[in-house]
Amino acid sequence: MVDVRKIRLILELRELGISDSKTLSALEKIPREIFIPKTFRNQAYENIALPIAEEQTISQPLVVALMTEALELTKSHKVLEIGTGSGYQTSILSILSRRIYTIERIKSLLTNAENNFKKLKLTNIVSKHADGNLGWKEQIPFDRIIITAATKVISETIINHIKENGIIVAPMVTNNIQILTKFIKKNNKLDSEKISNVLFVPNVSGVKN
Ligand code: SAH
Repeated sequence: MVDVRKIRLILELRELGISDSKTLSALEKIPREIFIPKTFRNQAYENIALPIAEEQTISQPLVVALMTEALELTKSHKVLEIGTGSGYQTSILSILSRRIYTIERIKSLLTNAENNFKKLKLTNIVSKHADGNLGWKEQIPFDRIIITAATKVISETIINHIKENGIIVAPMVTNNIQILTKFIKKNNKLDSEKISNVLFVPNVSGVKN
């Protein structure tokens, strides 16, 4: 049954404009239901965001697909993710990149996500409990950065984490409107391109145990 729903979701994403076959096949491979609390599991293959613990959400499949596609990943890329959440987006990126470093500020969410990475035998994910806005200095430089919480500005710290021609994808907030944005680093500055209106939980500094 789940498989029929999954195939329907993939077709829906195609119709909504996701054309990158690597992105679609990654979404097909990673079982979304294991990242979702039992109460909502029957909706795992609907194209909607769903609640996880700690008042956070697992992103809508269309948004996960848009972000993944915008990152233009190859198997040689080293990726930084700020906001692990359930770990669903992380898992999708893990099969399309060389290694992914993911940071989550809420300890219990990170522990849960790490258990799911083990279950799926994804061995190229390195995770830590920290404030992602501080970056991951020991691992600079990154080829790609994804921020999965609504952010006001991309700080100099984060710009310094990415290589020249590297891509950053993030939901950017201005006047309470969130727009998924793709940035490309050129001559130490960011060129930007709007992708679509989105709805993410806020980027919050500091950690929670
Ligand atoms: N893409 C995720 C959803 C992420 S929800 C998924 O597929 O499940 C956003 C997550 O970012 C939340 O878990 C929240 O706790 C975390 N977050 C918010 N601000 C953060 C910060 N400054 N550093 C690290 N994590 C942060």
